[in-house]
Amino acid sequence: MTVDTATVLAGPPAAAALIASAAGQAAHLPVVPHLVIVRVGEDPASVSYVRGKAKKAGDSGLRSTVHALSETTPQSDLLSLVASLNSDPDVHGILVQLPLPGHIAEAAVLAAIDPDKDVDGLHPMNIGQLWSGRPTLAPCTPAGVMALLAHYGIPVAGRRVVIVGRSQLVGRPLAGLFLAADATVTVTHSRTRDLGTVTREADILVAAVGRAHLITPDMVRPGAVVIDVGINRVVGEDGKARLTGDVHPDVATVASALTPVPGGVGPMTVAQLLANTVQAARQQLSQTSGV
Ligand code: NDP
Repeated sequence: MTVDTATVLAGPPAAAALIASAAGQAAHLPVVPHLVIVRVGEDPASVSYVRGKAKKAGDSGLRSTVHALSETTPQSDLLSLVASLNSDPDVHGILVQLPLPGHIAEAAVLAAIDPDKDVDGLHPMNIGQLWSGRPTLAPCTPAGVMALLAHYGIPVAGRRVVIVGRSQLVGRPLAGLFLAADATVTVTHSRTRDLGTVTREADILVAAVGRAHLITPDMVRPGAVVIDVGINRVVGEDGKARLTGDVHPDVATVASALTPVPGGVGPMTVAQLLANTVQAARQQLSQTSGV
């Protein structure tokens, strides 16, 4: 007996296409778009993410600057830095890497970023624009998911989408983007009763939870498209740590298409950050010089 397996929706080719498109737009601008990333503390994951983002920006022909501040930086110093970046016409995109140390109020910092430079799309004004269905700088992972679906020609309009996870970073903004793209959207979370009954309704199922292999084959409608946003570090039988998603690998026998982890949504997140930086630069330059 042969078992059909899902088409792999690989992130790298879709990310390369998104970056190439953004770089093409940047080439028509009078200045090189400049992304500034602010990191506070030495959280190893944040150090690695920031390094990756800055490198990818440089490789893609954008300028990037990293401000690495000490763990004990007062909130007022961080807000002063954000204010100076806001008023610097040489800076087009500002990203403050999360999470911040406990003594700093993340919401206050995110709200202090100029919405026009908010390439992470987490300023309340940009969140409101997104939920109003208006064009805006959208958070990178959700926007990256939409770009991935578009790259692989997967239609969204009219389809039933179920998102597992309702975080500010992924689940909620992704729901807004799917709604703007005319999908019928259901958002589930840790208090959802009988999750499998809901997820089985999905034409497109997105898992953004952070629990390894939560989504099992019986929770997926045959032929559904499954997007695995989760990144979980697990220790295998060989004692080695590896990354795995929220979706059980056997879902590949039920789904029509599935994103791998790693190598699925992750590369799209970084690519979308660069696309957002170019979009922000274009908008700022058109406001100031009519370019
Ligand atoms: P959060 O922890 O902020 O949110 C997790 C969500 O999952 C919450 O809404 C929570 O519900 C829900 N949840 C938890 N347990 C269950 C359950 N048993 N059934 C249904 N829902 C549940 O995580 P993030 O959204 O920030 O990240 C989610 C995952 O995506 C993580 O693995 C993260 O590493 C990964 N990620 C990947 C990125 C990428 O680039 N690929 C980028 C960002 C995140 P409730 O609200 O009720 O608590």
